[in-house]
Amino acid sequence: MTAGEKPLDGQVALVTGASRGIGRAIAARLGRMGARVALCSRNAQGLEAAATALRREGIEIFAQAADVTRAADVDALVRGVRAALGEIDILVNNAGIGIFGPAHELSEQDWDRILDTNLKGVFLVSRAVAPEMIRRRTGHIINISSLAGKNAFAGGGIYCASKWGLLGLTGCMAEDLRGYGIRVSAVCPGTVETDFSPHAGKDSKKMLQPDDVAHAVAMLVTQAPQSFISEVHLRPTQKP
Ligand code: NAD
Repeated sequence: MTAGEKPLDGQVALVTGASRGIGRAIAARLGRMGARVALCSRNAQGLEAAATALRREGIEIFAQAADVTRAADVDALVRGVRAALGEIDILVNNAGIGIFGPAHELSEQDWDRILDTNLKGVFLVSRAVAPEMIRRRTGHIINISSLAGKNAFAGGGIYCASKWGLLGLTGCMAEDLRGYGIRVSAVCPGTVETDFSPHAGKDSKKMLQPDDVAHAVAMLVTQAPQSFISEVHLRPTQKP
Protein backbone atom coordinates (compact mmCIF):
# COMPACT_ATOMS: atom_id res chain seq x y z
CA MET A 1 0.00 0.00 0.00
CA THR A 2 1.52 3.35 -0.98
CA ALA A 3 1.06 6.46 1.15
CA GLY A 4 -2.42 7.92 0.68
CA GLU A 5 -3.86 4.71 -0.82
CA LYS A 6 -7.06 3.60 0.97
CA PRO A 7 -8.09 0.20 -0.40
CA LEU A 8 -10.95 -0.17 2.11
CA ASP A 9 -12.54 3.24 1.45
CA GLY A 10 -16.31 3.00 1.93
CA GLN A 11 -16.17 -0.31 3.79
CA VAL A 12 -17.30 -1.07 7.33
CA ALA A 13 -15.38 -3.43 9.61
CA LEU A 14 -16.42 -4.87 12.98
CA VAL A 15 -13.58 -6.10 15.20
CA THR A 16 -14.49 -7.91 18.44
CA GLY A 17 -12.23 -7.69 21.48
CA ALA A 18 -10.66 -4.49 20.18
CA SER A 19 -9.93 -2.59 23.40
CA ARG A 20 -6.31 -3.79 23.39
CA GLY A 21 -3.81 -6.25 21.95
CA ILE A 22 -4.36 -7.91 18.60
CA GLY A 23 -7.92 -6.62 18.12
CA ARG A 24 -6.86 -3.04 18.61
CA ALA A 25 -3.99 -3.44 16.12
CA ILE A 26 -6.36 -4.96 13.55
CA ALA A 27 -8.86 -2.13 14.06
CA ALA A 28 -6.11 0.46 13.58
CA ARG A 29 -4.81 -1.24 10.44
CA LEU A 30 -8.25 -1.55 8.81
CA GLY A 31 -9.01 2.07 9.73
CA ARG A 32 -5.75 3.31 8.20
CA MET A 33 -6.73 1.40 5.06
CA GLY A 34 -9.87 3.54 4.85
CA ALA A 35 -12.53 1.42 6.61
CA ARG A 36 -15.00 2.81 9.12
CA VAL A 37 -14.41 0.61 12.12
CA ALA A 38 -16.67 -0.69 14.89
CA LEU A 39 -15.05 -1.93 18.07
CA CYS A 40 -16.45 -3.99 20.90
CA SER A 41 -15.14 -5.46 24.11
CA ARG A 42 -16.59 -6.26 27.51
CA ASN A 43 -14.65 -3.46 29.17
CA ALA A 44 -16.32 -0.09 28.39
CA GLN A 45 -13.45 1.96 29.84
CA GLY A 46 -10.68 0.27 27.86
CA LEU A 47 -12.86 0.39 24.78
CA GLU A 48 -13.39 4.14 25.03
CA ALA A 49 -9.63 4.71 25.45
CA ALA A 50 -8.94 2.68 22.29
CA ALA A 51 -11.72 4.48 20.40
CA THR A 52 -10.35 7.89 21.40
CA ALA A 53 -6.81 6.99 20.29
CA LEU A 54 -8.02 5.70 16.92
CA ARG A 55 -10.27 8.73 16.31
CA ARG A 56 -7.21 10.92 16.90
CA GLU A 57 -5.68 9.21 13.87
CA GLY A 58 -8.67 10.37 11.82
CA ILE A 59 -10.39 6.96 11.73
CA GLU A 60 -14.21 6.90 11.93
CA ILE A 61 -14.94 4.70 14.94
CA PHE A 62 -18.09 3.31 16.54
CA ALA A 63 -17.55 1.63 19.92
CA GLN A 64 -20.07 -0.36 21.95
CA ALA A 65 -19.44 -2.55 24.98
CA ALA A 66 -20.69 -6.08 24.33
CA ASP A 67 -20.03 -9.53 25.69
CA VAL A 68 -19.77 -11.86 22.69
CA THR A 69 -21.00 -14.79 24.79
CA ARG A 70 -24.44 -13.16 25.11
CA ALA A 71 -26.77 -13.24 22.10
CA ALA A 72 -28.69 -10.15 23.27
CA ASP A 73 -25.46 -8.09 23.52
CA VAL A 74 -24.34 -9.32 20.10
CA ASP A 75 -27.65 -8.48 18.42
CA ALA A 76 -27.66 -5.01 20.01
CA LEU A 77 -24.05 -4.51 18.87
CA VAL A 78 -24.77 -5.42 15.26
CA ARG A 79 -27.86 -3.17 15.23
CA GLY A 80 -25.73 -0.35 16.68
CA VAL A 81 -22.99 -0.78 14.05
CA ARG A 82 -25.52 -0.78 11.20
CA ALA A 83 -27.20 2.37 12.50
CA ALA A 84 -23.92 4.21 13.09
CA LEU A 85 -21.71 3.08 10.19
CA GLY A 86 -23.82 1.02 7.76
CA GLU A 87 -23.77 -2.63 6.64
CA ILE A 88 -20.78 -4.67 7.74
CA ASP A 89 -18.32 -5.72 5.00
CA ILE A 90 -15.60 -7.18 7.22
CA LEU A 91 -16.09 -9.07 10.48
CA VAL A 92 -13.02 -9.98 12.52
CA ASN A 93 -13.89 -12.41 15.32
CA ASN A 94 -10.93 -11.71 17.58
CA ALA A 95 -12.30 -11.66 21.16
CA GLY A 96 -10.80 -14.53 23.08
CA ILE A 97 -9.50 -15.63 26.45
CA GLY A 98 -6.96 -18.16 27.63
CA ILE A 99 -6.91 -20.15 30.85
CA PHE A 100 -4.05 -22.61 30.98
CA GLY A 101 -3.27 -25.70 33.03
CA PRO A 102 -3.87 -29.44 32.77
CA ALA A 103 -7.51 -29.92 31.74
CA HIS A 104 -8.06 -32.36 34.62
CA GLU A 105 -7.18 -29.58 37.09
CA LEU A 106 -9.47 -26.91 35.61
CA SER A 107 -13.10 -26.32 36.53
CA GLU A 108 -16.36 -26.64 34.66
CA GLN A 109 -16.59 -22.86 34.90
CA ASP A 110 -13.18 -22.54 33.17
CA TRP A 111 -14.40 -24.81 30.37
CA ASP A 112 -17.60 -22.78 29.93
CA ARG A 113 -15.80 -19.42 29.96
CA ILE A 114 -13.24 -20.46 27.36
CA LEU A 115 -15.59 -22.31 25.03
CA ASP A 116 -18.32 -19.65 25.33
CA THR A 117 -15.91 -16.84 24.45
CA ASN A 118 -13.64 -18.46 21.88
CA LEU A 119 -16.19 -20.62 20.07
CA LYS A 120 -19.81 -19.73 20.91
CA GLY A 121 -18.94 -16.02 20.63
CA VAL A 122 -17.77 -16.50 17.04
CA PHE A 123 -20.97 -18.42 16.24
CA LEU A 124 -23.17 -15.69 17.74
CA VAL A 125 -21.48 -12.73 16.04
CA SER A 126 -21.15 -14.50 12.67
CA ARG A 127 -24.81 -15.56 12.83
CA ALA A 128 -25.84 -11.95 13.45
CA VAL A 129 -23.76 -10.59 10.54
CA ALA A 130 -24.02 -13.32 7.87
CA PRO A 131 -27.62 -12.65 6.68
CA GLU A 132 -26.81 -9.11 5.49
CA MET A 133 -23.61 -10.36 3.81
CA ILE A 134 -25.66 -13.09 2.07
CA ARG A 135 -28.18 -10.51 0.89
CA ARG A 136 -25.38 -8.29 -0.44
CA ARG A 137 -23.42 -11.30 -1.77
CA THR A 138 -20.13 -10.01 -0.41
CA GLY A 139 -18.12 -9.99 2.81
CA HIS A 140 -15.14 -11.22 4.77
CA ILE A 141 -15.31 -13.11 8.05
CA ILE A 142 -11.90 -13.60 9.64
CA ASN A 143 -11.61 -15.71 12.76
CA ILE A 144 -8.54 -15.32 14.95
CA SER A 145 -7.68 -18.86 15.96
CA SER A 146 -4.16 -19.85 17.02
CA LEU A 147 -1.37 -22.32 16.36
CA ALA A 148 -2.84 -23.80 19.55
CA GLY A 149 -5.67 -24.86 17.22
CA LYS A 150 -3.14 -27.01 15.31
CA ASN A 151 -0.62 -28.15 17.94
CA ALA A 152 -1.14 -29.87 21.29
CA PHE A 153 0.93 -28.76 24.30
CA ALA A 154 0.88 -29.51 28.03
CA GLY A 155 -1.49 -27.19 29.86
CA GLY A 156 -3.24 -26.14 26.66
CA GLY A 157 -6.18 -28.58 26.88
CA ILE A 158 -9.28 -26.41 27.02
CA TYR A 159 -7.78 -23.49 25.07
CA CYS A 160 -6.55 -25.84 22.32
CA ALA A 161 -10.00 -27.47 22.21
CA SER A 162 -11.62 -24.06 21.68
CA LYS A 163 -9.20 -23.01 18.92
CA TRP A 164 -9.28 -26.45 17.25
CA GLY A 165 -13.07 -26.23 17.30
CA LEU A 166 -12.89 -22.73 15.86
CA LEU A 167 -10.95 -24.04 12.86
CA GLY A 168 -13.69 -26.63 12.28
CA LEU A 169 -16.37 -23.94 12.50
CA THR A 170 -14.37 -21.65 10.19
CA GLY A 171 -13.93 -24.33 7.52
CA CYS A 172 -17.63 -25.22 7.53
CA MET A 173 -18.71 -21.55 7.49
CA ALA A 174 -16.39 -21.03 4.52
CA GLU A 175 -18.15 -23.85 2.65
CA ASP A 176 -21.62 -22.56 3.61
CA LEU A 177 -20.90 -18.99 2.51
CA ARG A 178 -18.39 -19.09 -0.39
CA GLY A 179 -21.18 -19.45 -2.98
CA TYR A 180 -22.51 -16.06 -1.83
CA GLY A 181 -19.15 -14.37 -2.41
CA ILE A 182 -18.41 -14.35 1.33
CA ARG A 183 -14.89 -15.41 2.22
CA VAL A 184 -14.31 -16.98 5.62
CA SER A 185 -10.72 -17.40 6.79
CA ALA A 186 -8.79 -18.24 9.93
CA VAL A 187 -5.56 -16.68 11.14
CA CYS A 188 -3.48 -18.91 13.43
CA PRO A 189 -0.76 -16.88 15.14
CA GLY A 190 1.95 -18.29 17.36
CA THR A 191 2.71 -16.43 20.60
CA VAL A 192 1.98 -12.70 20.32
CA GLU A 193 3.29 -10.08 22.73
CA THR A 194 0.08 -8.86 24.42
CA ASP A 195 -1.42 -8.96 27.93
CA PHE A 196 -3.33 -12.12 27.01
CA SER A 197 -1.24 -14.43 29.24
CA PRO A 198 2.16 -14.31 31.00
CA HIS A 199 3.86 -16.34 28.20
CA ALA A 200 6.24 -17.70 30.86
CA GLY A 201 9.68 -18.70 29.61
CA LYS A 202 9.33 -16.95 26.23
CA ASP A 203 11.52 -14.11 24.98
CA SER A 204 9.18 -11.19 24.30
CA LYS A 205 11.65 -9.62 21.84
CA LYS A 206 11.26 -12.65 19.59
CA MET A 207 7.47 -12.94 19.82
CA LEU A 208 5.06 -11.92 17.11
CA GLN A 209 3.66 -8.41 17.52
CA PRO A 210 -0.04 -7.51 17.25
CA ASP A 211 0.79 -5.67 14.00
CA ASP A 212 1.99 -8.93 12.45
CA VAL A 213 -1.51 -10.34 12.88
CA ALA A 214 -3.03 -7.11 11.56
CA HIS A 215 -0.82 -7.47 8.48
CA ALA A 216 -2.23 -10.95 7.80
CA VAL A 217 -5.79 -9.60 8.13
CA ALA A 218 -4.96 -6.72 5.76
CA MET A 219 -3.68 -9.24 3.24
CA LEU A 220 -6.86 -11.34 3.46
CA VAL A 221 -9.23 -8.41 2.94
CA THR A 222 -7.38 -7.09 -0.11
CA GLN A 223 -7.40 -10.30 -2.17
CA ALA A 224 -9.12 -10.13 -5.55
CA PRO A 225 -12.71 -11.43 -5.23
CA GLN A 226 -12.24 -14.71 -7.13
CA SER A 227 -10.10 -16.44 -4.50
CA PHE A 228 -9.41 -16.58 -0.79
CA ILE A 229 -6.72 -17.86 1.54
CA SER A 230 -8.60 -20.07 3.97
CA GLU A 231 -5.99 -20.44 6.74
CA VAL A 232 -2.90 -18.43 7.65
CA HIS A 233 -0.24 -19.87 9.97
CA LEU A 234 1.81 -17.04 11.42
CA ARG A 235 5.18 -17.71 13.06
CA PRO A 236 7.97 -15.45 14.30
CA THR A 237 11.25 -15.81 12.42
CA GLN A 238 13.20 -16.60 15.63
CA LYS A 239 11.63 -19.07 18.08
CA PRO A 240 10.77 -17.08 21.26
P1 NAD B 1 -5.97 -9.65 24.98
O1 NAD B 1 -6.32 -10.31 26.27
O2 NAD B 1 -4.90 -8.61 24.98
O3 NAD B 1 -7.30 -8.99 24.33
C1 NAD B 1 -8.49 -9.72 24.27
C2 NAD B 1 -9.64 -8.78 23.91
O4 NAD B 1 -10.84 -9.57 23.87
C3 NAD B 1 -9.87 -7.68 24.94
O5 NAD B 1 -10.29 -6.52 24.26
C4 NAD B 1 -11.03 -8.24 25.78
O6 NAD B 1 -11.82 -7.21 26.38
C5 NAD B 1 -11.82 -8.94 24.68
N1 NAD B 1 -12.74 -9.94 25.19
C6 NAD B 1 -12.48 -11.03 25.97
N2 NAD B 1 -13.62 -11.69 26.25
C7 NAD B 1 -14.62 -11.01 25.64
C8 NAD B 1 -16.02 -11.19 25.55
N3 NAD B 1 -16.66 -12.20 26.16
N4 NAD B 1 -16.75 -10.30 24.82
C9 NAD B 1 -16.14 -9.27 24.20
N5 NAD B 1 -14.82 -9.05 24.24
C10 NAD B 1 -14.07 -9.91 24.96
O7 NAD B 1 -5.64 -10.85 23.97
P2 NAD B 1 -4.90 -10.87 22.54
O8 NAD B 1 -3.56 -11.46 22.73
O9 NAD B 1 -5.05 -9.57 21.85
O10 NAD B 1 -5.79 -12.00 21.84
C11 NAD B 1 -6.75 -11.73 20.83
C12 NAD B 1 -7.11 -13.03 20.13
O11 NAD B 1 -5.93 -13.63 19.59
C13 NAD B 1 -7.71 -14.10 21.05
O12 NAD B 1 -8.73 -14.77 20.37
C14 NAD B 1 -6.56 -15.04 21.32
O13 NAD B 1 -6.98 -16.34 21.62
C15 NAD B 1 -5.83 -14.98 19.98
N6 NAD B 1 -4.41 -15.35 20.05
C16 NAD B 1 -3.55 -14.75 20.94
C17 NAD B 1 -2.21 -15.12 20.97
C18 NAD B 1 -1.24 -14.52 21.93
O14 NAD B 1 -0.18 -15.12 22.15
N7 NAD B 1 -1.50 -13.34 22.49
C19 NAD B 1 -1.74 -16.11 20.08
C20 NAD B 1 -2.63 -16.68 19.18
C21 NAD B 1 -3.96 -16.29 19.16
